Amino acid sequence: MTDAVLSPCFVYLDNNATTRVRPEVVEAMLPHFGTLFGNPSSMHTCGGVVATQIRDARAHVARLVGAEPEEIVITSGGTESDNMAIRGVLEADGGKRHVVTTKVEHPGVLSTAKWLAGKGCDVTLLDVDGAGRLDLDAYRRALRPDTAVVSVMWANNETGVLFPVEEMAAIAHDRGVPFHTDAVQAVGKIPIRLKETAIGMLSLSGHKLHGPKGVGALYVRSGTRIAPLLYGGHQQQGLRPGTENVPGIIGLGTAARLALEEMATGVPRVRALRDRLENALLAAIPRTAVNGDRDRRLPNTTNMSFEFIEGEAILLRMNELRIAASSGSACTSGSLEPSHVLRAMGVPFTMIHGSVRFSLSTFTTAQEIDYVIEHFPGIVADLRAISPYWK
Ligand code: PLP
Repeated sequence: MTDAVLSPCFVYLDNNATTRVRPEVVEAMLPHFGTLFGNPSSMHTCGGVVATQIRDARAHVARLVGAEPEEIVITSGGTESDNMAIRGVLEADGGKRHVVTTKVEHPGVLSTAKWLAGKGCDVTLLDVDGAGRLDLDAYRRALRPDTAVVSVMWANNETGVLFPVEEMAAIAHDRGVPFHTDAVQAVGKIPIRLKETAIGMLSLSGHKLHGPKGVGALYVRSGTRIAPLLYGGHQQQGLRPGTENVPGIIGLGTAARLALEEMATGVPRVRALRDRLENALLAAIPRTAVNGDRDRRLPNTTNMSFEFIEGEAILLRMNELRIAASSGSACTSGSLEPSHVLRAMGVPFTMIHGSVRFSLSTFTTAQEIDYVIEHFPGIVADLRAISPYWK
């Protein structure tokens, strides 16, 4: 193994789960655990210095998604942002009780929708096709006069498939329905200019873009009627009260600034590495497929199935070789069920069980990809040799 492979100890290809915090982010956060401890709401300079830095951080987040700083509400992450968007709009509206979302959302949205259904809301879950794509005619038909909110993810966390959320938001806007997108996996990986869209709310999360965990944001377009999840002080116009997670916000702002600076150069490099990995594994390993639309995908993600072997076994063998990735088969993500995303796509069970998600980042090196290309086919061959289903 080269030094690059050993650093920071694993070939880390699980960046859709979480990302390595950038050193610049850590550096920006550190003073906020030391000398810069003031409360940003305080009148004195100890607080004022911190308040100014929070303003700057908010502006960086806004710039990354092409919005205004006043439209950024800082939250504890993607899950809170998803909850706040959907529940906040329903709460503010009062009358309408119909929610439209998809079968392949992250639990941040799906569990919220399920909870709302238990509270008497009517929830429509849109299907996807075999490539993980939505049917826009079915979407148009799903919208009703009593639809309170639509929530559709920008990029799927398991397959990387991108949904046409800008078009979908425009359709919702024409019908007067607020549109939320969970863009936790998209922000920092693809250009986003919210001002040029009809998207009303967007969730993002710090730890998916080389920032800290436990901090994120909800973009709320000016004029959107939305109620808070929490009640308390005046912070963030009362929409998300509570003394701010200052180090987290500073880290998020720094990560957002760097993500935007790197977008033009870093993203094509990551895409090229992802394609190299995917094409090499497809060529070297029989009975292998890519799950999801290969043309409309995040640049860093590939979800591949290796028929007749278990994802768990693949992950364990990869772990021995110090390669980190994840699987859509059962038990690998604390779930007893295999991936709801791959099931919604109709991927056969023999393929779901052998699915592996490789997700790269700007820290991924060519040597690391070559290391995986060298060793991964052997793992599959070994496991198939002991599989009762492989002939
Ligand atoms: N939405 C998507 C698409 C995600 O991938 C994730 C995290 O995996 C979340 C929401 C939740 O974000 P957080 O971990 O910040 O709560």
